[in-house]
Amino acid sequence: ASKSRQCGSLIYHAQLDPGSQVSLSLLSDLRHAIKHEELRLYLQPKIDLQWGRVVGAEALVRWQHPTRGLVPPMQFIPFVEQTSFIRKITAWVLERAAQFAREARDAGLNLRLSVNLSTRDLMDQDLPGKIEALLAPLQVPPASLCLEITESAIMDDPARALSTLEHLHAMGFKLSIDDFGTGYSSLAYLKRLPVDELKIDKSFVMAMERDLDDARIVRSTIELAHNLGLSVVAEGVETAKAWGLLSRLGCDEGQGYFIAKPMPQDEFILWARNWQPP
Ligand code: C2E
Ligand code: CA
Ligand code: CA
Ligand code: CA
Repeated sequence: ASKSRQCGSLIYHAQLDPGSQVSLSLLSDLRHAIKHEELRLYLQPKIDLQWGRVVGAEALVRWQHPTRGLVPPMQFIPFVEQTSFIRKITAWVLERAAQFAREARDAGLNLRLSVNLSTRDLMDQDLPGKIEALLAPLQVPPASLCLEITESAIMDDPARALSTLEHLHAMGFKLSIDDFGTGYSSLAYLKRLPVDELKIDKSFVMAMERDLDDARIVRSTIELAHNLGLSVVAEGVETAKAWGLLSRLGCDEGQGYFIAKPMPQDEFILWARNWQPP
């Protein structure tokens, strides 16, 4: 481990060549991180915009590095996503999220935990079986988990993604299209996907108060989702005004700094108990 730390700032560069010396040491650091409990599960609440209730949380990983402090996901996930090691991270997050769903339920809070999946997770034929094995001992119903997939992860190999998603959907997991509006998936394709939710990308939500086009995109995405029978979530809700506008437009759920930033999982239950809708 001490050897890899010498790589300094280089080791978290996203554009690393997966075969290089530096990236090999990042992977070995991450293996070490999982084994020595250096990864942290952060949770960001999802709120029902009509009633103001806490309905779920998105699981977001961080790396509590011994010398670098808390490393944000954008500094290692994009690189790890180019390797099959992402499956180890996904399994770790899924397990912790499911454990948390169980803990929350025991504390009287019914939450749906959203977990991010990457392209390589979708390409893994064994993923549905692995998730099932992971959840069985925890007695967490599949509907307590929502799996978030970006359009680009799906469009990488649409046929294979579709078959994995159909399998997961049949098992009872909720499926969500993340960063909706930023990818290249066609509506014709979207129609065939067994998804339950669209998540409007934060770039549109954060700009909608000052840019009429963004506001129109948000409004039509909400309509599109509802016309397709899907639930719709806005991420990047940063202001009271955005909250008000989204709830008037009939958006189902919101997530963003106006509500709360992602927080360590052991703070979440207390936060949810004290939450007062604006
Ligand atoms: P994402 O899936 O789109 O997650 C939402 C990101 O937006 C999070 O950043 C969250 O903190 C941030 N966010 C939420 N509300 C607001 C807001 O009101 N304003 C602004 N400016 N930002 C907001 P985070 O936690 O840094 O994660 C960044 C990305 O890293 C995620 O984007 C996701 O692509 C990836 N990521 C994080 N955790 C995981 C994971 O466990 N697995 C995988 N595969 N990817 C992950
Ligand atoms: Ca997400
Ligand atoms: Ca997103
Ligand atoms: Ca994103």
